Amino acid sequence: MRRDRLTPLGPSSTYAGVKINGVKGMNDVLPARVAPWQEMERVAREVFALYGYREVRTPSVEQYALFARGVGEMTDIVNKEMYVFEDKGEEMLALRPEGTAGAVRAFIEHGCHVEGPQKWFYLGPMFRRERPQKGRYRQFHQIGCEVFGVAEPACDAEQIAMLDDYLARLGVRAEVKLNSVGDAACRPAYLDDLRTWLGARRAALCPDCNERIDRNPLRVLDCKVESCQPVLREAPRLVDRLCEPCRAHFEAVKGMLGDLGVTFEVDPRLVRGLDYYVRTAYEFASGALGAQSAVAGGGRYDGLVETLGGPPTPGIGFALGQERLALIMEALGRKAPVERPAVFFIAADEAGAREAMRRAAALRKAGIACDLDPRGGKLKGQFRQAERAGARFALVLGGDEVASGRARLKDMETREESPVALDELAARLTGGR
Ligand code: AMP
Repeated sequence: MRRDRLTPLGPSSTYAGVKINGVKGMNDVLPARVAPWQEMERVAREVFALYGYREVRTPSVEQYALFARGVGEMTDIVNKEMYVFEDKGEEMLALRPEGTAGAVRAFIEHGCHVEGPQKWFYLGPMFRRERPQKGRYRQFHQIGCEVFGVAEPACDAEQIAMLDDYLARLGVRAEVKLNSVGDAACRPAYLDDLRTWLGARRAALCPDCNERIDRNPLRVLDCKVESCQPVLREAPRLVDRLCEPCRAHFEAVKGMLGDLGVTFEVDPRLVRGLDYYVRTAYEFASGALGAQSAVAGGGRYDGLVETLGGPPTPGIGFALGQERLALIMEALGRKAPVERPAVFFIAADEAGAREAMRRAAALRKAGIACDLDPRGGKLKGQFRQAERAGARFALVLGGDEVASGRARLKDMETREESPVALDELAARLTGGR
């Protein structure tokens, strides 16, 4: 590694003129590709509000201990992928790898349980030091939802149906996979049996699986390596071993999803990468994504609030990956409409340039998008800018137009021109005349 990368506070002259790239696995979304992002965020706010969810904003940095305890020290996310740093020798902090732990911390810290059940959503960047590939990045963005204080299966079904509704409104079809990962009553005995069963088949399993057998045997079921599949297909299933309350909960969720018209598939090998899930686990997958097919995943986390020092409070949530959703929307050719200027002012001289500034300011105050090229210059160059901006009309302003208060409005598509009084421009552009 080059030394200059390790000395963040080196003399700034070291870098003068040297191109500095973005961080590997952390992406820019340029204006040309931001439309699906804006659409997915706008629709999220609209749809989640219909279901009674309110937005929460929490910091990107939390105490390391929050994730160690909340997400689980044994998970890959905390153990291998988290960005952890010591803040000037004072405390261990971490860039958040997911949003639930921070939301739970805020819920506890502000005593929100006294207000009864809460439905929250958030959106923002998350950080995991994974090997970057398509659909997997080191900074990625999630839209997530959490419900605190409701243990009933109706809550699970409503949340899954909401996510289904949300994606449908974006024109995205995803397969809904559902499972129950049991609870503290039925899972430990199953895990013991699973560990023993997998332990007897180590030779047929990949190195990753072998490493996980002792640490996190449920995750072995999630392995995607081809050669492991014949073995894993035969593995004992937790859905066959659920305790009575977990079984009843699972049956109720399935029944209600049916009532709500949500098509789903039970996937007994669906487990999630985080320790805190109990009972309901679910995932939304899309064939448009290739290997990283999960666009969203969630589940119930009834013990988490207590684990993090709060009062016993059931909860359920999901997180959706915005990069993956953007990939799907782009693959579908979905382009959200971009705001185009209604008119682009073209300055023929100094007086025209000043008038263009004044007229543009007035139109914008009236809520009409318009633009101009402050560099001025040749008319041809300004018309080219008008075209690039996608303006509907262009309007040339010079000393004559300023003096007469009249100009010619050019339709950029048909190339037709028509006279317009400058004072009537706003009415004309909004279809008034
Ligand atoms: P998780 O928090 O691991 O349950 O993931 C929830 C969703 O976040 C996944 O279904 C993905 O869409 C997205 N996601 C998780 N990790 C990444 C990553 N490294 N890069 C991009 N998206 C991710």
